[in-house]
Amino acid sequence: MDDLSLPGRRQFGRLAAAAAALAGLGACSPSPQASPPASASSSGSPASASPAAPSPSPSTSATSATATAAPSATASGTLAPAVDSPARQLKRQFPLTDPSSPWVLVNKHHRLSPVTYQPSDLMVPALAGATADTLLRKVTAAAAASMFADAARAGVAMTLLSGFRSYATQASTYNSWLRIHGSVAGADTASARPGFSEHQTGLALDIGDGGACELQPCFAASPAAVWAAANGHRYGFIVRYLLGHDRITGYYAESWHLRYVGSELATDMVHRRIPTLEEYFGLPPAPSYL
Ligand SMILES: [Zn+2]
Repeated sequence: MDDLSLPGRRQFGRLAAAAAALAGLGACSPSPQASPPASASSSGSPASASPAAPSPSPSTSATSATATAAPSATASGTLAPAVDSPARQLKRQFPLTDPSSPWVLVNKHHRLSPVTYQPSDLMVPALAGATADTLLRKVTAAAAASMFADAARAGVAMTLLSGFRSYATQASTYNSWLRIHGSVAGADTASARPGFSEHQTGLALDIGDGGACELQPCFAASPAAVWAAANGHRYGFIVRYLLGHDRITGYYAESWHLRYVGSELATDMVHRRIPTLEEYFGLPPAPSYL
């Protein structure tokens, strides 16, 4: 797959229609070419169960007490888990704003800093489907290799569809969507803005299974997604964008998008039944860009 090449004008039209119907795909679509076909948006399917578009007003979006807790700041101004955050109780803690931290918080309120950050330890992971275009950080690659191997032993096919995405690639992707939609609001429904994608950290990956539901809502029912949702925490992964939490995370459900946070945090989120990093860290919801 070539993330940088762009489709022709006719294809643009079809893809734009598909994207408009699938508003909120955002976090993972690496390029217009990778967007799901229009049929994926047919009403009546699980895909259409997506909630309403994220509210532009964070103040109306809080759905839990922890989500409304104010973040705390250290003396140096570094964002840290709120005082009442479960993350404060873990043995080891990591900064939320350092882009190389396993806990780095990236959402529509928190852009990577520096915005053009690129990990220094990117590598081609030893995973099914991996190519020179699907780089991951060393720690992510190792964790994913263990997860993929155990999934395979359990009879579950799992492939790597996407990994690290540079600032330049994300900017190119976002700009192509901007041309298609003709507005920032339209582009925002199809792609994360450059500097706001978890894929730029090298800690996020998109999994597939070679089936027709890859990168589509119906992937949630696939053995790969079900297995990853049930077992990913053991390897340090969380499903970052769960169904029904778009008003907190800013994105509709993406059962294929896994984020490495380390097994201690990921396991604690499961045990405490806390579905989003925002809630776990005691940070406000981030339904839209500020
Ligand atoms: Zn993704």
